[in-house]
Amino acid sequence: MLYLHKRPGQLTLLTLVLLLSALLFGCGRGREEPKVPESGKTEAETPAEVSVTTETVSLPPASPATGVGRIMPKVVEQRDTLICIDPGHGFEDGGSGDAETSFFPEGVVEKDITIAVARLLNEDLTARGFRTVMTHDGETIPAEFNWDGNDRFNPNERVAMMNALEPDYIVSVHTNTTGNPYACGVQVYYNHISGSKWNDWNEPAAEKIAEAIDEMVETTATTQLCNPITSDNASLAVTRDTHAAAALIELGFCTNEQDAEKLVDPEWQESVAEAIATGITRFFDGMES
Ligand SMILES: [Zn+2]
Repeated sequence: MLYLHKRPGQLTLLTLVLLLSALLFGCGRGREEPKVPESGKTEAETPAEVSVTTETVSLPPASPATGVGRIMPKVVEQRDTLICIDPGHGFEDGGSGDAETSFFPEGVVEKDITIAVARLLNEDLTARGFRTVMTHDGETIPAEFNWDGNDRFNPNERVAMMNALEPDYIVSVHTNTTGNPYACGVQVYYNHISGSKWNDWNEPAAEKIAEAIDEMVETTATTQLCNPITSDNASLAVTRDTHAAAALIELGFCTNEQDAEKLVDPEWQESVAEAIATGITRFFDGMES
């Protein structure tokens, strides 16, 4: 600590000098030069008060910006209904379409169409809140059901898989072939076997699908409803041996030029998948009401 030994008279004089310094130079900081703004004017030249006038401007009424508020979260009612989608053929089994009489482009066979439509149908049904399962994805054969190891995924292996999955409804998609180049259009096969517990579902569900196809899809003929047990057509394992209501849909004939054009068209595939999904939805909606 520093002590100043000064006489009282000296102290009074020193105090007076300090007080005068403070008054002249302001708290010992020294006098600052006025700031010069970039404009070149000094603060002293800036008017102390700026008069502010408020002007009222009338604007046109606000309208919503384009797109704002139009994107809403999609509300999907989840359904406790499992739909099994079976893309016909696949793997070593190309199905029809490679014969001389086929109008499919070179290299395209039935399995290419069935997997494309099945994938679209799967997306559509999922978006509608259904639980779905596909018997295969076109790339990996379900090993558990490839009993004979021939990578063809035969109907009996497929039926065993479907029954293990316990779906509420089965839809199998195929494309058709025949020697008659004029035969055309979509066919929906279902069973009506005496005493079958699925009779109440098979026919109305197939009807709803056929109706939706005729309503929503550009087809070459009115969709036929076919009962494979009572018609001349062969009995089909997928609709006969599965423990669920089922439909097998022949989407068109590769042996008919117009049908073949549609079958390979991605937009047509999308529309037929949407129609099948719509028919299935209408059937289950009808049951709930
Ligand atoms: Zn087929």
